[in-house]
Amino acid sequence: MPNWKFWERHESDAGQPHRRTAPAGEIPRPAANQPQAVYDPQRLNALRRRREALIFDVEQSELATRPDNPWLARIALLDETRRTVEAELALVEPLPLPPRPEFDSKPVRIDTVRWEDPAIVAFLVGNERIEFVSELDWAERGAYIARNELVFESGDLDRLLPGELPIEMVVETRERLEEALFIFASDLRRRAEQDEPMPRDVTLDLIIQVCPVCGDWRAWGGYCPTCTELDQRRERLRREIERIRSDANAEREEREKLADRLPVALRRLADTDQEIARIEAAR
Ligand SMILES: [Zn+2]
Repeated sequence: MPNWKFWERHESDAGQPHRRTAPAGEIPRPAANQPQAVYDPQRLNALRRRREALIFDVEQSELATRPDNPWLARIALLDETRRTVEAELALVEPLPLPPRPEFDSKPVRIDTVRWEDPAIVAFLVGNERIEFVSELDWAERGAYIARNELVFESGDLDRLLPGELPIEMVVETRERLEEALFIFASDLRRRAEQDEPMPRDVTLDLIIQVCPVCGDWRAWGGYCPTCTELDQRRERLRREIERIRSDANAEREEREKLADRLPVALRRLADTDQEIARIEAAR
């Protein structure tokens, strides 16, 4: 029987696998990293924009590798500022004060401690009865009721002042004594509220004493307003130094990152230039 089904013969004769991967007339596909060059003005514009960005990258990276780069200039400026602040920190010292006379060690006897408003805290310093009270009205602030602070109510503070006190120091010393007594009274009130035991063997020179660090008076519990103020100033300066240091590190890291990126930036620019050239050639 004549084989009239010529296509079957054709298929059976083929034998070898089909080698051609693209239909006739089609340009073989380029390698994956080399897109087929077809003239495409939109693509060309996009590439030209990318080229501008890459040129900027290359310039920045080249700048970062130069010895006189702006990052190093900024780091130098930050280091200089930091040294100024460090010098300022080293100078934070208490101002010289006229010597503070010590209070004497009169015994303190706790008389009454009622912490709820209207609170009353009373104690005897030697024979002098000192009384603090809180105001009667309650201040309502938002959702909670704030407790009223104690205020000095009665007692002759002049009778507690050190004997050899220079006349020009009397007013200030009395104020500081009242402040120290307030801190002591507030601590008694807090202890009562929190069910903590009352302090024992209290004497006046524990409620107010000369600070061994700065020479000013410090209050019950070791609270020294002068040292606290100096500590806060030191803390502010330390935070400032830390901030400057971290800014300088950020500049350093940015410069290093840009300098390291130079070979990559150059390669990307070369790739883009090549692609632009191929598309332009296809025009
Ligand atoms: Zn102090």
